[in-house]
Amino acid sequence: MRSVPRSAEFRNGGISFWFRELGCPERRAALLDTVDYDVCIVGGGYTGLWTAYYLQRADPGLRIALLESEFCGFGASGRNGGWLSAEFAGSRERYAQLHSKGAAIALQRALMNSVDEVIDTAGDEGIDADIVKGGMRLVATNPAQRSRLHAEVGYRQEWGFWPEDLHLLEHTDASRLHVDGTIAAAHSPHAARVQPAKLAVGLANVVEGLGVHLFEGSAVTEIRPGDGNARPAAVTEHGVVRADHVIRATEGYPVHPRGQGQEWQPARSSMIVTEPLTDDMWRHIGWEGREVLGDAAHAFVYAQRTADGRIAIGGSDAPFRTGPARDDNGATEPQTIAELWRGLARLFPIAAEVPIVHAWSGAVGVARDRCPSVDLDRDTGLGWAGGYAGSGVTAANLAGRTLRDLVLGHGTELTRLPWVGHQARAWRREPWRRIGPQLVNGLYRTADRRESRRVTRTSRFAGLAARMAGREPHEPGPGGNAPGSPDRPGAIGEASGAAGPE
Ligand SMILES: Cc1cc2nc3c(=O)[nH]c(=O)nc-3n(C[C@H](O)[C@H](O)[C@H](O)COP(=O)(O)OP(=O)(O)OC[C@H]3O[C@@H](n4cnc5c(N)ncnc54)[C@H](O)[C@@H]3O)c2cc1C
Repeated sequence: MRSVPRSAEFRNGGISFWFRELGCPERRAALLDTVDYDVCIVGGGYTGLWTAYYLQRADPGLRIALLESEFCGFGASGRNGGWLSAEFAGSRERYAQLHSKGAAIALQRALMNSVDEVIDTAGDEGIDADIVKGGMRLVATNPAQRSRLHAEVGYRQEWGFWPEDLHLLEHTDASRLHVDGTIAAAHSPHAARVQPAKLAVGLANVVEGLGVHLFEGSAVTEIRPGDGNARPAAVTEHGVVRADHVIRATEGYPVHPRGQGQEWQPARSSMIVTEPLTDDMWRHIGWEGREVLGDAAHAFVYAQRTADGRIAIGGSDAPFRTGPARDDNGATEPQTIAELWRGLARLFPIAAEVPIVHAWSGAVGVARDRCPSVDLDRDTGLGWAGGYAGSGVTAANLAGRTLRDLVLGHGTELTRLPWVGHQARAWRREPWRRIGPQLVNGLYRTADRRESRRVTRTSRFAGLAARMAGREPHEPGPGGNAPGSPDRPGAIGEASGAAGPE
């Protein structure tokens, strides 16, 4: 087996290539006191920052504090694949069962609109995040993948993607982006490439400029629900913020007040980035449109062409890792790096010898039923949003606007979306929550190997994995393959096979 070509400047971890390119920002001052605000937001990623942004814009008189354990953008928001897309990981069927099919479609349409909302707001606020709206390209490179891609496009066209929103490409269109072995491709216009850390850091600066108080290096150790006697509060080692509302926006880093609110299991997603490709290589590959790119494998990859002509490619971590929020600045296993590089070499053989300069990982949050949610509990004053399961770049913007309406007590079309108030059951205890996803990942990888032998049907191993993950047989496909998604941990633990005792 060939070894991964590494640049002399190769770095593993160090938060992300995006921060290496941008430079890590100076930390803002920490919280050192007990203080009162109207709203306290815990977590300085996209969810927390967009919530602060829309609240402060809606009511400039609101006193808002944001507490961040490291610096804004340190989490997944500064590490992701830069797919600003209308993808979401949740089960459309599940939302439809609990609400209606129309409600699930409304959520999908709201996500599409949110892509433009992010682009327009970044433009209005002067945030330069290398954004190019080139759409999303999904490719199939073997017959089984092609069957799934066709089925996925048909399925999604029943759930809010109309033909102009997602369609199969003719060969001549598909050839504008030359992915080796492509036998079918689909395109959606609802996606843009972004430089994730530039978006997070730019947004933090804007939010601060609006008057929100950002405290960094301020890890919250406890979130206290409010009751008749005391306001809800966020506690750090050196201070406390009391507020009418405390919003938890820490997604893959659990700070769950006991028994309160939705619980998300942390899971990992990883990326590598190459040195810049030569002009000759780009002439061969094309990719002039800067589409975000994904494939239809079970252990899928997601990729972007960066502003300076590199390929950044990510995928689920192998083996899938869960557990407490230990963040070693994104250091990534050699096995994962090798697997991502094999994905790169498979899709772009011409780039296989281009050295890799950086590898990193980050944490995403997954609800037990895999459905993201937003909520505000009026009794305790606590709110939260997350569980995007690897598809949060756009969803966090929608969540931020929804939390604004919930905090301000406005009933709007956003607060009526079916993810508002959605509650999944608590995750099972270890070791089941760890072993189940590992089994599922192994099965999906076996399925990919078998399908690469040009079989025409989806492997039975994938069917077994889907059943263990509690997914509907028609749910999988690239649509379920959210860009930063851990390898479909899905509703592991819902299914009897992987479940084990509570
Ligand atoms: C490698 C990777 C690739 C991805 N690719 C994509 C993609 O291309 N497209 C897409 O849509 N999604 C992608 N995602 C997912 C997406 O990045 C996330 O869903 C999204 O950024 C979540 O934003 P957030 O603000 O909710 O969480 P985060 O960005 O994780 O922010 C949480 C913040 O809370 C802080 N924090 C944690 N604990 C505490 C505490 N105790 N006190 C105070 N602060 C705390 C953290 O430091 C962090 O800054 C990817 C994720 C990863 C890891």
